[in-house]
This record gives sequence, structure tokens and C-alpha cells, in this order.
Amino acid sequence: MPITANDPKRKTWLDTAPDTDFPIQNIPFGVFLTRDDIITIGTRIGDYAIDLGALHQLGYFKGIELTDDIFLQDTLNDFISDGRKTWRLVRNRIADIFDKENPKLRDNEDHRKHILFTLDEVEMQLPVQVGDYTDFYSSKEHATNVGTMFRGKDNALMPNWLHIPVGYHGRSSSIIPSGINARRPWGQTMPDGATEPVFGPSRLVDFELEMAFITTDANVLGEPIPVNEAEEYIFGLVLFNDWSARDIQKWEYVPLGPFLAKNFASSISPWIVTLDALQPFKVEGPKPEMEQLPYLQYKGKKSYDINLEVYIAPEKGKESKVSSSNFKYMYWNMSQQLAHHTINGCNVNSGDMMGSGTISGPTPDSYGSMLELTWRGEKPIKLSDGSERKFINDNDTVILKGFCENENVRIGFGECRTKLLPAIKQ
Ligand code: CA
Repeated sequence: MPITANDPKRKTWLDTAPDTDFPIQNIPFGVFLTRDDIITIGTRIGDYAIDLGALHQLGYFKGIELTDDIFLQDTLNDFISDGRKTWRLVRNRIADIFDKENPKLRDNEDHRKHILFTLDEVEMQLPVQVGDYTDFYSSKEHATNVGTMFRGKDNALMPNWLHIPVGYHGRSSSIIPSGINARRPWGQTMPDGATEPVFGPSRLVDFELEMAFITTDANVLGEPIPVNEAEEYIFGLVLFNDWSARDIQKWEYVPLGPFLAKNFASSISPWIVTLDALQPFKVEGPKPEMEQLPYLQYKGKKSYDINLEVYIAPEKGKESKVSSSNFKYMYWNMSQQLAHHTINGCNVNSGDMMGSGTISGPTPDSYGSMLELTWRGEKPIKLSDGSERKFINDNDTVILKGFCENENVRIGFGECRTKLLPAIKQ
């Protein structure tokens, strides 16, 4: 089925800025609370939030097989469950409704009043109920940097790394949407030179620049997803900040991996940009440095050219950019991650979330965490207000941004913005 929603020539009758992350070619999906306290599924064009529940009730999706209440829900899980064909039909129809040449809604003021909201009239929610959350470790640069710091240059990459998209099962209860604050966690650490662990607020809270993909119901228990079919089951992507407490992590991670250092908060951007919208930005990924097992070998382009940026804003000060990276740097792509995740028969459900792992690029200004940017705190970063950071301070706000751009169109993700509050008093 053609993705007519992606037509770069299409213009909308809505007023949009030329550099918006959300032109009519984007059409992401999210969930928001309206000024009347109604929760609904919506999309966004420019700075308008569009109530898909109201559009459906007013008959704008006629001819597409949808249940009456599909958009009158507080999560996208059921809609995602309907599968790729439905996502495409709905995106194509939304593009048509807001096309400059289509008068149906454009010239119906009464309908527009029910359907359109400005962004300050809505409050974004988590777009899906995340049943299961998995985090990978798929940037070779990141794995090499961290490995070098902890084990030295010669043992930086573990022997399995070039063979397996390494990952672990995370925790979904503490996934929060952009705009919700996180808190500095308390925990157990073993300071350098100490012989006994100490308990206190983490001193080394860090961000991790990641993206996460959201799946649909993909397979029944016992059946793997072939690598070349994996994209059929990926609904879309969000920006993802996998908050990490490095001092807690260092003490607890052997032998089973991260635990309390990672599950105190993980932030996502609220609009899921569909894989369909990202089609014009498919690129070749890094060449395998070692032959991969057949179930991980794929055909065609499976990586995406998505510019990623990280900013830090002190409590009273302007934001400073601290990193510029790109999703295309990932050594293992999403298709390989999903194929590997299910090769043992593990089943994946609608609304599951898979983090990429920290995305570091090849140059020091493209590293995806403070741990790497400041090299364990040895090289502090200077912000525009003159203050220095080794890790994240209390009341700092960390902002992730992401966008794709070519000569025709810009498809963006907006922001994933989280303020770090001081540790609670104990
Ligand atoms: Ca992570």
C-alpha cells in the first residue's frame, strides 16, 4: 500500500512554521488530556494537537475498518495492535483531511473547534502502556568507550559483542513522558579506595542519549521473527533518556548487569514518529566487522539517518548543547535487535519498548553520556553560563532533540525534557 502521507509536495491548510518538526508529512501518534479533562489519542501538525477521537466521531475515517472507540483510549496499544495496514490507512487519511486543497474540515468551523487544540491547551501523556521494556547496548563507540574506562583499551569490547546485540530486560513502571521530573536516587556505592560500601544520594547521575522503538504484537511464544520481516512489527520511535546513576551502577552491575542504577526513571518523548514517516531517511548501517550468524544477516537498508542532540539547562540559565550524535551510528540495527530478541521464541506484545542503548558517535562531541563526554569526570564540560559539569546537577534539565532532514522535508521528534530534582530527604 503506498504511503501517500509522505508526499513531500503536500501542503497543509494549518498554519505551520517552515522548520517545524511536525510538518504534514510526519503525522506522529500520541495521547493527550484536553482542556475539558478528556483523554484522547491524537496527532500533531505544526503546533496543533489534533483529536483523533473527535475526528472519528465526526465521520472522517469512514471506509477504514476501525472500532468506534479505537481513539477514545488512554493508550495507543489497541490501535498499534491493529497492524501496519491500519496505521498506513489512518496516516494517509489524516494527510488527506489536512491537505491544503481539501475543504471538508478546513471550511467547517464547528468541526475545527472540536478537533484542533493549541499545544498549551493539552497535556501530553505516556503514549503507550509499556508492558515490557528491553534495553540494548548497540553502539560500538559507546561500548568501546565504557569498556576502555572500566577494563582498559585491550579488553574494551567483550568477546560476545560483535556476535550478539547485547541487551537486558529493564523496568517499565518508571518510564515517564517528557515534562515529568526525575529524582536523584539514593543507593549503595563503593567509593574509590573504600573498603565498605556507603549509602547516600547518587553523586554521579547521568543521561543516556537513546532512541526506543515501540512494537506491535509480533509473534506467538516459541516463534522467532525473521530479521527481514522485523520492520513490519515496529510501529515507530521516540527519543529516550535512560537516566543512569554511574556510582550505583559500578558497584552493583557484576554479575547480572544494571539494576537500581537504571530503573529510577527513564524519559521518552511523547509523540511516536512512525517507521513509515521515516522511510525517506533509510541508510546503510556500519559494515559488520565480523561475519554474523545467518539469523542476524539482513538485506537492504535497515538504519535511519536521525540527527540527535543533547542540551543541559541549569535551573536559571540558557540551555547549552553538549552532544550531537546520530541514530545511524548504531552497529546493530532495530531489525537485528528484534530478530535476536525473539530467536529463542520470546514473544513481543503491542506497546513493548526497546531502547537502542546509548548512541555515541565517532568523535568526542558526539558521545551520548556525560560519562563519556567528560571521560568519567576528568574533563568537565563548560556550559554557556560559565558553570562546569562532570555529571548532572540537581535542578538541571536535560533535553534530547531529534530530527531527520533532506532537501524536501524535515521529520522531527520534538523534545524529551526532564528536570532532575534533588534526592528526597531521608
Ligand atoms: Ca541504556
